[in-house]
Amino acid sequence: MAPTQGPRTDQSQPWLPLVGGGNDGWSTETEATATCFCGAVQLKFPLQGPGLVETFICHCVDCRKVSVSMFATNFTIADPHLKYTRGQDNITAYGQSHTIATDNTMTNHFCKTCGTLMYRASSGYKGLNFVRMGIVDDYRLHETKLKPRVEQFVESRVGWLCPVEGMKQVEGMWVGSTFKEESKTE
Ligand SMILES: [Zn+2]
Ligand SMILES: [Zn+2]
Repeated sequence: MAPTQGPRTDQSQPWLPLVGGGNDGWSTETEATATCFCGAVQLKFPLQGPGLVETFICHCVDCRKVSVSMFATNFTIADPHLKYTRGQDNITAYGQSHTIATDNTMTNHFCKTCGTLMYRASSGYKGLNFVRMGIVDDYRLHETKLKPRVEQFVESRVGWLCPVEGMKQVEGMWVGSTFKEESKTE
């Protein structure tokens, strides 16, 4: 499927704008790709359960630093369902535990070439990957199948940002039906 550029005209069709160096992302009814900014690393993942576990915004202080912005938009994919289509050898990782109340280690996995953060994983929640939504190539999915359902760590949300209407508001880590969190940050 060739990337489409320019304004969206049809919300029912994929929207694959020209972004960075990859430009070969795709989506189907059941699967989609996520690519780093330079294009060296690409993942694919399912758009429904059991592989897709949750979609959420995180306002925690770590996510503000890690995202070099004011919040992170994430979705959780269970381990056997998150696959590399290329570039696994171009991933590097950085983890630490001193900001995590449970002493879990939260590890960031990012592209060695362009620095794009692909996903985070916690030693306390083995088998779950917190993928960064901004790397999903079909931008339509950001507001349809992957639209966040929850805002967490709302107590550290930047003061000029309002709650998103209709999104569940949670102080601290979201304790969903699918996974539990007890940490100060994810
Ligand atoms: Zn890259
Ligand atoms: Zn966070």
